[in-house]
Amino acid sequence: MKETMRLNTQQKEKIWDVVIIGSGPAGLSAAIYARRARLETLVLEKQPMSGGQILNTTDVDNYPGIPDVGGFELGQKFRQHADKLGAVFCTGEASEILPYKKGYQVKAGGESILTKTIILAMGASYRNIGVPGEDRLRGMGVSYCATCDGAFFRGREVAVVGGGDVALEDALFLSRGCKKVYLIHRRDAFRGAKVLQERVQETANIEILYDTVVEEICGEMQVEKITAYNKKNDKRMQIAVSGVFLAVGMQPETAVTGQLVDLDDSGYVIAGEDGRTSAAGIFAAGDLRTKKLRQVVTAAADGANAVASVEAYLNGTLR
Ligand code: NAP
Repeated sequence: MKETMRLNTQQKEKIWDVVIIGSGPAGLSAAIYARRARLETLVLEKQPMSGGQILNTTDVDNYPGIPDVGGFELGQKFRQHADKLGAVFCTGEASEILPYKKGYQVKAGGESILTKTIILAMGASYRNIGVPGEDRLRGMGVSYCATCDGAFFRGREVAVVGGGDVALEDALFLSRGCKKVYLIHRRDAFRGAKVLQERVQETANIEILYDTVVEEICGEMQVEKITAYNKKNDKRMQIAVSGVFLAVGMQPETAVTGQLVDLDDSGYVIAGEDGRTSAAGIFAAGDLRTKKLRQVVTAAADGANAVASVEAYLNGTLR
């Protein structure tokens, strides 16, 4: 893989056809499609490591044609593909987007980048549950990534909070190395895939606590226990655990868009399958866009669709 680099003088002075902000599956897919369309393409990535959320995913078992691929490996494959086609990568966090002539100026890490169009592909980040102890004990037993931190809790008792695919997958993953996993969900039904629900229910060392909310995460230097409240039987309990894995969803990374594009009530960029936002020349792809299913495959599809819209916009045929 090519090293991520700063922009050279020529690249700094260029007006790019498209600047893609974010290098997860949506951004990398967009980069591949943009280069195949021979667009001058710059990918701006916050960290010098492409892949986005899948970097933290052990196995991606639903990307067609590549069963059982590791998330990190898949991210690297996407990146290598974009590199091979000549996309330029630059490390830097986009801090501001300003209209500039008929296009935009993107400010990032001291650079000013000029472009005719933008694809927003910044994805989403972990949501907090906002209880006492969560911030203080982050990294000291509070984790948002079971596949990254699970190994530290081998043989211990842990809790997973949430009821979506990630919580169910995390509970299953942790059950393989931990003594016991409490799966704590605020409602009486999971929203995650049925197949995962069945596996969780069949796993002997996973105890499911429905209708239960975590009220506090306690411990001096390390998580020692949680206080949880069962809403149905009005009971409060203390559960001794060494780790708490929070899997309560994501929040879209849209801060840099300011007032430029319209967002929905949850902060997602309002855009259809074609990626068109409320701003001319700005398109959205991947998890930060309003849509039902947020998967690697839908993010990759978004990247392709957004580039088709960019092409139409640049040649004046976007309807
Ligand atoms: P999600 O589907 O939005 O689920 C979040 C869960 O957290 C929900 O069960 C929600 O409860 C709960 N929750 C939210 N806020 C909470 C709070 N403050 N306190 C307690 N619980 C709270 O998020 P996700 O599991 O991260 O998945 C995100 C997307 O990625 C989904 O579309 C998912 O299908 C997809 N995904 C797919 C795969 C796969 O196909 N292999 C793997 C991972 C993720 P309620 O149910 O009550 O709302």
